[in-house]
Amino acid sequence: MTLKAVLFDLDDTLLDWAGRNYDWAEYERPFLRRAYDYAASLGNPMREFEAFEIDFRNRARDAWDHGRATFVAPHLGRLLVESAEAHGALPGSLAIEEVLGAYQWTAVPGTKAFPEIGDVLTELRDNGLKIAIVTNAFQPMTVRDAEIAVHGILPYFPEYRFSAADVGYLKPHAAIFQHVLEAMEITPAETVFVGDNLVADVSGAQGVGMKAVHRIVSPEHSMMEGLIVPDASLRDLRELLPILDQWYPGWRSR
Ligand SMILES: [Mg+2]
Repeated sequence: MTLKAVLFDLDDTLLDWAGRNYDWAEYERPFLRRAYDYAASLGNPMREFEAFEIDFRNRARDAWDHGRATFVAPHLGRLLVESAEAHGALPGSLAIEEVLGAYQWTAVPGTKAFPEIGDVLTELRDNGLKIAIVTNAFQPMTVRDAEIAVHGILPYFPEYRFSAADVGYLKPHAAIFQHVLEAMEITPAETVFVGDNLVADVSGAQGVGMKAVHRIVSPEHSMMEGLIVPDASLRDLRELLPILDQWYPGWRSR
């Protein structure tokens, strides 16, 4: 069996979140404020920002609860528009793309690309493999693109980047994996998935027939340990290359 593609989860697989140590609500507020200000700038008679913010957080929490129960992905743009419309924006007056543009997402302080990804991704691409990002984000990929561009991750993935928000389903649901396989014209048997989450990444990928590599990030205590068994585990992405040598001898000589 030949190897044709390696798929990567984004957060805590390619992008290291260990350095973030502040209140998320505080951090997120200016982004919400810009989306709100944009809605107000169109002449919508908006109620006060504080009510909009509370409403947005409630909607986001409910959407993630629903997502965990059903694997239907939440969508940041839709949530922002719904909150704005609930607080004065004329229904239909806001385009999701415009609201997300006003939100102006970018790299998050304290996060950084894992230092080894350049060598590993270059080796995979130089040997003809297709590589992709498959993230369980509620931001559409265009929003996360702005963030991973700052981290220098974006140039390694010019073709294939998938966010659950765009696909409509969260990992581990088979629908998001099937969507990726079809878009990349690959089969599960010729595809390896790498991710830090045992349920979303490892169990999800294995469920559609892919081999799954578990990226272990510092001390993990998952209730799924022992229940979900990855095909391989690593703590540094450079360990992926010898794993691929073992599974797909000759993949580097393409
Ligand atoms: Mg992750």
